[in-house]
Amino acid sequence: MYTLQGKTALITGSTSGIGLGIAIELAREGVNIVLNGFGNAQAASDLIASFDVAVAYHPADMSKPSEIADMMAFASQTVGPVDILVNNAGIQHVASIEDFPPERWDAVIAINLSSSFHTCRLAIPTMRERGWGRIINLASVHGLVASKQKSAYVAAKHGLIGLTKAVALELAQTPITCNAICPGWVLTPLVEAQIEARAGAGGISVEEAGHELLAEKQPSQEFVTVAQVGKLAAFLCSDAAEQIRGAAWNMDGGWVAQ
Ligand code: NAD
Repeated sequence: MYTLQGKTALITGSTSGIGLGIAIELAREGVNIVLNGFGNAQAASDLIASFDVAVAYHPADMSKPSEIADMMAFASQTVGPVDILVNNAGIQHVASIEDFPPERWDAVIAINLSSSFHTCRLAIPTMRERGWGRIINLASVHGLVASKQKSAYVAAKHGLIGLTKAVALELAQTPITCNAICPGWVLTPLVEAQIEARAGAGGISVEEAGHELLAEKQPSQEFVTVAQVGKLAAFLCSDAAEQIRGAAWNMDGGWVAQ
């Protein structure tokens, strides 16, 4: 029987939403957790500690390579060498290409794509030494197909799937796997902001705006839950998933089947 008990996971952007959902599902399996992200880190830490695992928090800004390096060193020194790396931190900016502020483009690419290069390059040597590792990149259906007004996000997520495949190939003959998860709409603060903007623009209620959002893209007409994404991440960490390498696994209520 495989066990994840006692392993260490570092999950970027895990103070809310999908990252916190993944932290919860890994903690449920006995994995010690290093949290990162902005917002209420204490509440997230207390929640994870309730699973009786070790937990630490580092506030690194994923757009800053030097802070990412500090975070990786901190993880090893406080909780343990990183066995499971989940590259989850992400931001969105919605605007047409000609109105897209260049600094928002740079931020989306830095946080949603380049940060994963930095964490991977720092985590892989130790994973190789220890003879086991799992890397999970939170891409999106927008890594597989595009939507209007999301040029930076779509470019970053397509890039992240490319990075996932390249890393998976470099590690193909090792016990370290690298895969991407591609969710459709998941109701998190990132999506709530888009629903609120849509409600404001259309003069409709937040509930109606949520229904419209789903009707447009997600055939199930239901949001994916953070717990569902968390359980898929936990599965990708299992021994059963050892030959899943370089996959871009969509969990999207049918979005990209259309
Ligand atoms: P969220 O806004 O709830 O969480 C994002 C997390 O990233 C937060 O913890 C936030 O503090 C952190 N973060 C933001 N900027 C950061 C920075 N510069 N440095 C460090 N941390 C930072 O969003 P979410 O919906 O949970 O998104 C998580 C990931 O899943 C993102 O990569 C997102 O693109 C992806 N995703 C989300 C959806 C969805 O529908 N919610 C769908 C597909 C993919």
